[in-house]
Amino acid sequence: MALDSTRQLTLDPVEIPAERSPEDALHLAAGSERVDILFGSFKDGRGFSLAAHLRKAGFTGELRAVGPLLPDQEGALKRVGFDTVLSDRIDAGGRGVRVPFESVYQPDPTGGGTAEPAYRQRALVARGQHADALAEMLEGASPEAILARTLEEYRGRIAVLSSFGSEAALGLKLIADIAPATPVLFLDTDRHFPQTLQYRDALIERLGLSHVEILEPDPEEAAREDSDGQLYARDSLACCALRKVRPLNRALAAYDAVITGRKRHHGGLRGSVKAVEFDGERVRINPLAHLSASEVSERFSALDLPNHPLVEAGYPSIGCWPCTAQASAQGSREGRWAGQERTECGIFDPEPGKRAERAKSVRLI
Ligand code: SF4
Repeated sequence: MALDSTRQLTLDPVEIPAERSPEDALHLAAGSERVDILFGSFKDGRGFSLAAHLRKAGFTGELRAVGPLLPDQEGALKRVGFDTVLSDRIDAGGRGVRVPFESVYQPDPTGGGTAEPAYRQRALVARGQHADALAEMLEGASPEAILARTLEEYRGRIAVLSSFGSEAALGLKLIADIAPATPVLFLDTDRHFPQTLQYRDALIERLGLSHVEILEPDPEEAAREDSDGQLYARDSLACCALRKVRPLNRALAAYDAVITGRKRHHGGLRGSVKAVEFDGERVRINPLAHLSASEVSERFSALDLPNHPLVEAGYPSIGCWPCTAQASAQGSREGRWAGQERTECGIFDPEPGKRAERAKSVRLI
């Protein structure tokens, strides 16, 4: 059956309920430049069939899908020939509001999409709210209490990030006393001091850490981006992105929460770090955030923890050898990337608040 082209043209939209037959739809659409197909439910596939019938029959006017449709139906609606989607879901009194396709309900099968599926956005919102509640509950709590609660709360979904640097032994000891099988993530940049690797292995042995993951840069990325091994000298941000940020992000995809050793006394971006915070994706637990440098030192002595061998040599903060210099004050990060503007490697988003706000502001229909 073909469209009746003898009917007089009209600009008024013709409304065709999805339950009408294809023959009725063709008859009604004849002579119209705009057809609204009315869906009673997003689950009603008949409107899709009607649209396809009209297009196959030669209807070239504007075809609008009207009703409580879902954002992730946009692709299918386009495919059967719809030009526009109007929904009554946003404004009950004003049908005709264009659905803002801000959310998708399935991951992009091609991997090319950038929008987070709605189920993941909802999960992130819930995760952030839960973290906020936890932060309030643990305000002022001891490192031991913070770790006991969060290791239990996120059991199986939490890891600790450690550089095995100058203060690392304290946090690792407290974690090992509660849950020694907690995954410990170590970024092997291939630029560590040999003393750090020795210290790492000694601490693993001594504390009984049974699950240490060594994270390395992607070999193909390293060959492509740092073929001469001198990227740190040319572009230290790019070097950190290659050797730290991307390997860590890949590993953290398996976890909802991560424990860090950041403390406020480190200054800079760490000056206001909280014991529990949400970065928009996962929860950061900073159980030692409130400890001063001297309190860390006292706890090292009380627990008889070994110092990193380079501490006595004048390195209060220890990272990769090309980007670590001696410094005067205990706990100071002034020897990191000395002479450059930066004091962080980029694994901690400098603006976690913005990401968290973005997650909270997600609007789902
Ligand atoms: S700290 Fe230096 S050597 Fe290590 S990854 Fe960053 S730029 Fe590269």
